[in-house]
Amino acid sequence: MKIIDTIYLDGAFVTPHGDEMFDLFNPATEQVIGRVRLADAQDARDAIASAKRAFPAFSRTGRHERIDMLKRMHAAVVAREDALYEAITEEYGAPVSRGRWMAQHASSVLLEAAKVLQDYPFTRRIGIAEVVMQPLGVAGLITPWNSDAGFICGKLAAALAAGCTAVIKPSEMSAIQTRIVTEALHDAGLPPGVFNIVTGRGDTVGAEIASHPDVAKLSFTGSTAVGKSILRTAAETLKRVTLELGGKSPVVILDDANFDEAVPLAIQAGLMNSGQACIAGTRILVPRARLAEFEAHVKDALAQVRAGDPRDPLTSVGPMVSRKQWERVQRYIRVGIDEGARLIAGGEGRPDGVDAGWFVRPTVFSDVVNDMTIAREEIFGPVLSIIAYDDTPDAIRIANDTNYGLQAYVMSRDIDRARQVAAQIDAGRVLVNTLAHEPAAPFGGFKQSGIGREYGTFGLEAFLEPKAVLGVTGA
Ligand code: NAD
Repeated sequence: MKIIDTIYLDGAFVTPHGDEMFDLFNPATEQVIGRVRLADAQDARDAIASAKRAFPAFSRTGRHERIDMLKRMHAAVVAREDALYEAITEEYGAPVSRGRWMAQHASSVLLEAAKVLQDYPFTRRIGIAEVVMQPLGVAGLITPWNSDAGFICGKLAAALAAGCTAVIKPSEMSAIQTRIVTEALHDAGLPPGVFNIVTGRGDTVGAEIASHPDVAKLSFTGSTAVGKSILRTAAETLKRVTLELGGKSPVVILDDANFDEAVPLAIQAGLMNSGQACIAGTRILVPRARLAEFEAHVKDALAQVRAGDPRDPLTSVGPMVSRKQWERVQRYIRVGIDEGARLIAGGEGRPDGVDAGWFVRPTVFSDVVNDMTIAREEIFGPVLSIIAYDDTPDAIRIANDTNYGLQAYVMSRDIDRARQVAAQIDAGRVLVNTLAHEPAAPFGGFKQSGIGREYGTFGLEAFLEPKAVLGVTGA
């Protein structure tokens, strides 16, 4: 049983003012594995004050000093990679390959930010003006549970690269992972107050960060509903806001696609991170004339997908993070059946042979029409919808007929055709015949998938404000 009874404030682990104890679970066993003492609004205010004190000196640090800090942070997180992997498996239930990727991703985002900082032009000349990119101030970073360490490190890396100081509010459900990351980042030896980590509830700690006048910038990853409330709250003090929200990503299978390649990719895109991924490809758009052939391939592919013990290297779908999430996914499966979609794999309940843990049967519906609930709402579990289309314009229309616009996938033998389709889809990223990630390219959503971009130069600039200085250029 792990007891986490401190928060990270002003460069030290301290007992929070908040005294609520919150249970932490292993989702594969439903057993309580730890307890965390949650921070409260007073702790959030203390953390903001600490970051505010640290800002003047930190914002004046030079590029090379900050690159050096990011590299130290990277090395410190690399040194904890095995412990982090263990925590990800135990507390989140990520299958082996995903867990390893997540543990490694947490350190790599720090190095990526250092690379961006290396060449970024903080000062440039535009006409007779000298334009300086200036750090915004204290950044509030609020993150979800579905890739805890990666989100903490990614947002912190961009904030610090820009010269901002930070207050981080991670999900209360990921406290063991957060603790390991915090210990690593502490070992990197940054000046006190440059980053503070206050694990607490969203409606107390999160709300305090979203409303506090001394926070200049908010970067939030989470649900669209909470993102909207944060934007409304932030409007009072006109904070700069980056929102990375939900998705209902289309996978457009063009009529020339090779199903031997496209189906495994589509299944992987849909079931990644056990379906708990904002970028999951959950609406699979298939040419009507090839629907039966596609379904047969999907059934074969699903028969190979193992859902269960995340420590089994053959498992690709682990448990849902919590009982609440498990019940939510079960409810959506029932809704799909009630609305007349046809189950071709999976269904309600746990996978065969599994009688404990928040496991879901990887589920695929066909005969889904795009106005059904399961095609419109983000389920955040391994539940996929196959939607038939008539021709390519119809596929593009369906792909864009959603409130979301985070990511899309296009599968075709003809890259030029796929590129033309990609050009017509409203999504922050479109992946053609691949599930690759480019850490230097912008990431973020169109429409209700969010506002702004993370990663690379775009992600750095989200923490900077341009200032034009005139009369100093000699022009
Ligand atoms: P959530 O919105 O419930 O919570 C996210 C974070 O916000 C948590 O730390 C939570 O405590 C906090 N929070 C809750 N209420 C708050 C409030 N009123 N004020 C301030 N903070 C508050 O989301 P979740 O269930 O933790 O995560 C799942 C969601 O995250 C999904 O919708 C998913 O699509 C989204 N997500 C998006 C991305 C992306 O990059 N676009 C990535 C991962 C997850």
